Parts: sequence; C-alpha cells; structure tokens
Amino acid sequence: MLARFIIAGLLPALLLFSPNSSAAESGDGNDIRSQYEDIAAEIIRQATGTHRAYDRLAYLSDYFPHRLSGSEMLEDAIDWTLAELERDGIPVIRTQDVEVPHWVRGNEYAKLVHPYEKDLPMVGLGGSIRTPAEGITAQTVVVESFEELKERRDEVPGKIVIYNQPFHDYGQSVQYRVWGADRASELGAIGAMIRAVSPNSMGHPHTGMSRYSGEVPRIPIASISAEDAMLLHRFYQRGDPATVTLYMEAELKEEPAISRNVIAEIPGSEYPEEIVVIGGHIDSWDVGHGAMDDASGVVVTWEALRLIHEMGLQPKRTIRLVFWTNEENGVMGGRAYRDKVIEKGELERHQLAFEVDFGVFEPLGYGFQGSAEAFEMLKPIAELMSPMRDMHLREGAYGTVDIGPLYREGVPIMGLDVVTDKYFWYHHSLKDTVDKLDPDEVAECVAAVAVMAFIVADMPERLPW
Ligand SMILES: [Zn+2]
Repeated sequence: MLARFIIAGLLPALLLFSPNSSAAESGDGNDIRSQYEDIAAEIIRQATGTHRAYDRLAYLSDYFPHRLSGSEMLEDAIDWTLAELERDGIPVIRTQDVEVPHWVRGNEYAKLVHPYEKDLPMVGLGGSIRTPAEGITAQTVVVESFEELKERRDEVPGKIVIYNQPFHDYGQSVQYRVWGADRASELGAIGAMIRAVSPNSMGHPHTGMSRYSGEVPRIPIASISAEDAMLLHRFYQRGDPATVTLYMEAELKEEPAISRNVIAEIPGSEYPEEIVVIGGHIDSWDVGHGAMDDASGVVVTWEALRLIHEMGLQPKRTIRLVFWTNEENGVMGGRAYRDKVIEKGELERHQLAFEVDFGVFEPLGYGFQGSAEAFEMLKPIAELMSPMRDMHLREGAYGTVDIGPLYREGVPIMGLDVVTDKYFWYHHSLKDTVDKLDPDEVAECVAAVAVMAFIVADMPERLPW
C-alpha cells in the first residue's frame, strides 16, 4: 500500500505553479522532466489525497444504472453530468446530438426441459431479434468452436446451438458472441446461446453486442452462464442432448433514438484551438450498473479535468473532456464526434485522444498508438508518475473504441493500462457495480490521466501525429 497524503485544505496550486512561466522552450525529455516534475508531484498528491472520484462514480452508477442507448436513464445520466460539470465551474460545456440505435430487451428467459426442468439464468445479446411468442424449444448441439460446429453440421438443422467456448482471452472468445448467431444460422440452427464471455462466470450470464451479416436468416441469441454451458455440454457428450426453451421479446425499434455526447473544456491559454481529448463512454448495457463499463472512465477523466481546473493549471492547449454515447451497441457517439471535428476543421488540431474504458483498477501505465516521435515525447511524462508508482508507456492502446474513428484519421490515441485480472469477471453482467472498485486505485487512475493530459496540453512542442 502506498503512503497516502491527506490534504487538510486544497492549497490553490495557482500560487505554487505558473506553468507558462516555467516553460523551457525545448521538447527534450530531460527538460520535460525538470519542467513538470513539481507539477506532476502536486497533481498526484492532490488526486490521491481524496476519494471523491470514487464517491462520484458510486453516485453515477447507483442512481443511473442501465444506461442503454435509447433509454431515459441514459439521458437522465447525461443531464446529471451536465449539471455537475456546471457546479464544478468547468468553463465550456455543451452537448452534441447523436442518432443511436434503439434496441430494447423486453422479457426473456431460458430453461432446461430435458433431462429435467430447471431455469437457465440468461441474458439476451444486444441486437438480437425476438423469438416467436411461444419461444423456441429444441434439442441442443454443443460445440467449443466454429470449427467443431462445421464438423457437426449435419446435426445442426432445427436445433439450438450452444457455444461452450473456453475463455482464452476476450478478443478470441468474443467472436462467438459477435458472430455466433450467423454461424449457427447458416447451418440451419433456429437459435443460439453462448457461454458467458468471462474467465469467472459464478453462475452469471454476460451480455454484449451481437451482429447479423444479413446474408443468412437472423436467429435469436443469448448468453447463459459458463456452468450451464458446461452442463449442457456434458449431456451432449453422453449422447443425451439437452432440450431447452429460449424466450425473448427483444426488438430493434425502427426509429433511432436521439442521445448526446457531452463535451466540456478548459480552453488553452496560448493555443486554445489545439486540443487534447480525454474521456469515456456514458452509455452502458442494461444489466448491472455499468460502474466499470464505463462510468469509471467517465468519472476518472472528469475528475482529472476538475482537478486541473481547481488547481488553476490552465494549460497552453485546450483539454477537452468527452463522454461519448452509444459505445456499446453502435459507436455512434465516437463516429459523430469524428464527423463533427472534421466538419469544423478541428481534426488536425487534435494532439492526442485518451480514453479510459478498461476498468480503473490499479494503474500500470499507458498504451499508445501513434508516431515513434510522439512515443519518445511521451516517455518522460510517464516517468513523472514515479512518486505514485512506476508507470510504463507501451505501444498498443486498449479500451479505445470511441476514439478508434479519430485514430483511423491519424489522431494519436492512448488508453490507460490497469490490472485487468478481474475486469471480465464483471464486464457486461449484473455484477458490474461500484463495490468491485477500490477508492485508492480509482484516485490513482485520476492522477495518471491528469498528469498525462495536463503535460501533453502544456508542453512547449505539440505532440506530432
Ligand atoms: Zn466500455
């Protein structure tokens, strides 16, 4: 455990530091270190001396759970962030309307009907179609992979395919969630269920986005727990395949809904037209409270901005906080943001986009995707986190879906690397609640974002593409 400094009162750091006066006009790593060492240490001291980020995160996720695109709860959450940003005194606050898909879950259930009756805890996958009103009841074919499904193709017509795919890593296992319905449908299945995409199911299903290519008939798809997927697999392997019923009322509304990206800024003192973006996504799935995914990214970047503002550290360039909408089932917020900045001629003025969407456990470092030159310039900044802990800078950024559209236009992007052992235990499930997070670790994530965002926005030379 790190020693923590509890600050008796927030000494206005404006009196201590004047970032502009201390600026040496050079981008050399040593200069960056010496120029910003004291400021970084003070940001770290203040960020880690309080649990208010955790408190705000708990409030957001306790009062505004289930922030699915199209829901009133999501818009209520957005309204609350706007009022709170106002209270924080952030100088520039606005929203951007975004058309988002409006998928609603409705009632749903699954049950085992052979060899005996039992409820199967389930959650429909996002985007799935509904079942007929009486549900679908069919024998199961259980496989561990798409390859195995092909080998058993003769058994598939008229059945419900169960994917009991093991969890190797998220990227690999999630393919069954995304494409499981289509792969089963093209062989004649009438429904599909996947094992929860999680290394530790504990009897819970996990939702997430599923897709249809439109080339084969759409069939309903849901997640069941790992335990039940393995149970069904054992019945199947004994030559006594289970029969299950799947019932879903899911519906993608014809009319899209209107949601909003939230945008708040501290304008730069010298180059206000140049922008460093930080943020997370405000929408979530409709199970669990979306505390980790991604109220945590929203609040950690928000608290970083609030702290910089409260310390009176107006950087040379603008720091822009964005809460993107609709990351989970469309990424329409990230796309709309990109379109808007292109339209306004702001794209090339984005130096860095930094998203936090991989949990806010113990921070380890920064993942970066951009030029080698920019990478070298960021290294000394990561080193300035040493009063808190050693933080790495490495290539490749996780949890950056909303800034992917910017990256594809050339904007350098960054993600926060944290200890992710337990992230997928809770991800997209009813277990995603704030109690899984540690207030000290959340505060450290705030420090990590604040130091990086402030220095990139303030350093003498702009971060090159
Ligand atoms: Zn997320």
